[in-house]
Amino acid sequence: AREQALAEAAQDAVTKDGKRIQVFANIGSLNDVDLALKNHAEGVGLFRTEFLYLENDHWPTEEEQYQAYSKVLKAFGTKPVVIRTLDIGGDKDLPYADLPKEENPFLGHRAIRYCLANPDIFKTQLRALLRASVHGTLWIMFPMIENLSEVRAAKALLDECKNELKQEGIPVSDSIPVGIMIEVPAAAVTADLLAQEVDFMSIGTNDLTQYTLAADRGNEQVAHLYDAAHPAVLRLVQMTCQAAEKAGIIVGMCGELAGDPAMAEVLIGLGLHELSLSAGSIPEVKQAVRRVDAKAAKSLADEAVRQEDGDQVRKIAGRRT
Ligand code: PEP
Ligand code: MG
Repeated sequence: AREQALAEAAQDAVTKDGKRIQVFANIGSLNDVDLALKNHAEGVGLFRTEFLYLENDHWPTEEEQYQAYSKVLKAFGTKPVVIRTLDIGGDKDLPYADLPKEENPFLGHRAIRYCLANPDIFKTQLRALLRASVHGTLWIMFPMIENLSEVRAAKALLDECKNELKQEGIPVSDSIPVGIMIEVPAAAVTADLLAQEVDFMSIGTNDLTQYTLAADRGNEQVAHLYDAAHPAVLRLVQMTCQAAEKAGIIVGMCGELAGDPAMAEVLIGLGLHELSLSAGSIPEVKQAVRRVDAKAAKSLADEAVRQEDGDQVRKIAGRRT
């Protein structure tokens, strides 16, 4: 089966009834680019930029970041590369950043919250991204969005950087989609409002699951409670997809759930347009998409959100695969 999946990996992922699903790769550093291309990723759905900050002993400079982003954008050419802005805090600490100790880091000063509070650090990254935008097909994504004002503030800083660069005579692409991660339950519940402000949304099920189920994603003691297939999580996914549909914007998923071929039918039925996953699973997920009938998937998804728990969901999801 793996051989057949690999042989067909270059082909698009289209359901039996003709619905195209984009299958993208998640990458965590420049080292992941080769495998993503080899496995025929149609783009990058999540480029985690933390490595630039974690590998260094200093805040990465605009130039250092520009070099890294440019490399990835060039490698993918006309294929979209969704670069996520810094998601620091939570469980990711930076020795040189002097982040204050927090009682509940996952509920604390993390990701977009940290960036908005430290505009110099944020703007360095935004300027590097904008400068790199001329080398490929850049999409910018903000993590851990919880409300509209965060989206507006982040976009305002992005505009500020664009204007600065224009004044400095530095070229910037004039068509950069701006999107957000949906990984906080509040964002999923108000996705209709957030969708008005952005060009795309991408669901991060790793955090969405931990926050929805109140189960720390890294805590063994509560690992039995942590299940991205839990109907509560799937209902939030469905709400987000419906909001995206209404607003006419793209909605994808870049959490681990997107990489499970057995869940592909449910995910397509919930309304996702794009799945982003570790490159190794791309051939299998594309295969799984090709076995799906989008109409049947819709009724499977409606059934899935009414199940009692994640185990039941997985049971009905695997029924046809
Ligand atoms: C997620 O939360 O699902 C996600 C994709 O982001 P990360 O795993 O980097 O927190
Ligand atoms: Mg996350």
